[in-house]
Amino acid sequence: MNYVRAQLSDSHKWIFRKIEIEGKRVFHRQCMACGRDFIMEPNTEGWRAVHVGLLEFDSLAEETSRRWLSEECPGHQLPEEINDRRMQCDTSVQKQSA
Ligand SMILES: [Zn+2]
Repeated sequence: MNYVRAQLSDSHKWIFRKIEIEGKRVFHRQCMACGRDFIMEPNTEGWRAVHVGLLEFDSLAEETSRRWLSEECPGHQLPEEINDRRMQCDTSVQKQSA
């Protein structure tokens, strides 16, 4: 597994969390604006793009990781990136359907 060594852009509106996955502590950042999620395991020094599921994180393709890491925050969630498996209601924004 190749990790992308990169700094995350400060243009995102980060929510910082520490979570535990399978007994390992990992850092989690989620952007309130674009809804992108990243995790970093302490030993790897690299951020990875993930999708957040109810009980787990799914790694995204390395290509996606690279792209997200290199981009500024788009400022809103992109339609093609909406994670329909995102089940956490604490940070997700529910859109009112007209
Ligand atoms: Zn963002």
